[in-house]
Amino acid sequence: MRPVYLDANATTRLDPLALEAMLPFLKGEFGNPSSLHGHGQPAKAVLGRARAAVAALIGAEESEIVFTSGGTEANNAAILSALATQEGRDEIVTSAVEHPAVLALCAHLAQSRGIKVHVIPVDGCGRLDMEAYRAALGPKTALASIMWANNETGTLFPVEELADLAHEAGALFHTDAVQAAGRVPVRLSAVAADFLSLSAHKFHGPKGVGALFVRKGTAFSPLIRGGKQERGRRAGTENVAGIAGLGAAASLAAWHLLTDSDRIAGLRDRLEAGIAELFPHATVLGDTSNRLPNTASIAFDKVDGEGLLVLLAQMGVAVSGGSACASGMMEPSHVLKAMKLKTDLLFGAVRFSLSRDNDAEDIERALAALPAAMDKLCGPTPFRRAVEEAAAALHPAPRASLRKVA
Ligand code: PLP
Repeated sequence: MRPVYLDANATTRLDPLALEAMLPFLKGEFGNPSSLHGHGQPAKAVLGRARAAVAALIGAEESEIVFTSGGTEANNAAILSALATQEGRDEIVTSAVEHPAVLALCAHLAQSRGIKVHVIPVDGCGRLDMEAYRAALGPKTALASIMWANNETGTLFPVEELADLAHEAGALFHTDAVQAAGRVPVRLSAVAADFLSLSAHKFHGPKGVGALFVRKGTAFSPLIRGGKQERGRRAGTENVAGIAGLGAAASLAAWHLLTDSDRIAGLRDRLEAGIAELFPHATVLGDTSNRLPNTASIAFDKVDGEGLLVLLAQMGVAVSGGSACASGMMEPSHVLKAMKLKTDLLFGAVRFSLSRDNDAEDIERALAALPAAMDKLCGPTPFRRAVEEAAAALHPAPRASLRKVA
């Protein structure tokens, strides 16, 4: 039986059409896009096509796209550029739920350069504390960096308003749209971001390639210096095959955004409804009224989420958890900690993230595997039922739908 892959926020399968776009540049077409002779021309042309496709996906101009090695590099480049170009401003405003590609850099800058980093908290649904955000912005802010969508819960951030507020304070605004690009409409005509990061492997492109959007007129200081590639904004001979794959994946993503989003959201909703029936005390994490259509982050009460995902993996269902092993101990993710989940839920989080590759059969197979995995983890079914019924009698919870964290 084919495995059920529900971990699209970690990575996605390379689309065969993206692979096809890459192959010529891994085989015969070896030319350097900077060469003036004929060998470089196919490579130069594919870079141009890919730039146009990425720009179209996010509503940008081609000249505003800088190819990078992925989301991590794009985030680093944006943050370091803002600090280098915003004279007299040496503070950063970010959120407690950013990816480590933002938070680890900020921590390093605070430690090594004394940069003041304002880490804005979130509420129990993972929504940004807007008052704290407004209060943190000021004449010393070089950059506010807030993600478009959270990778663990799918919660969407009000990036349009956040960008405007940053600009009112004279600061630049960067958004990590690695999980948003290709999953929800991203229009840079409506959102006045100065920088935006994206990564090909989250939307069926290859790994190790992405892009940074740099708005026209925004001062930019390159992270990687050397040759004049990318109009002097990112040195080094381009990853031509990877960029060809990114371009094809971006075109496909723009199309599938129109054709598949509702279907994916429907599958996600069916998964959540099925889980609610099976496990009345499971809780949906994140802002359920404003999140990515593909993400279901579920906390199973008093359950070892990591154990559950290992058992699901043995049954051919791939998901990911909300905890990671740190120094031999299981540590809940910084995102769930920032949401101040109660301890019974903190370790029981499992993330199901879907893509256009999934169908109804995948969801039914995941729903069929869950009780079996839970029984292995928590003991025989009658015992679990008895415990759940006793718990439900003590703390009545809605049975028809999943509880939402307030
Ligand atoms: N930002 C977010 C929100 C992510 O989810 C990820 C990857 O999981 C990254 C950045 C890093 O992207 P990349 O793997 O392309 O370096």
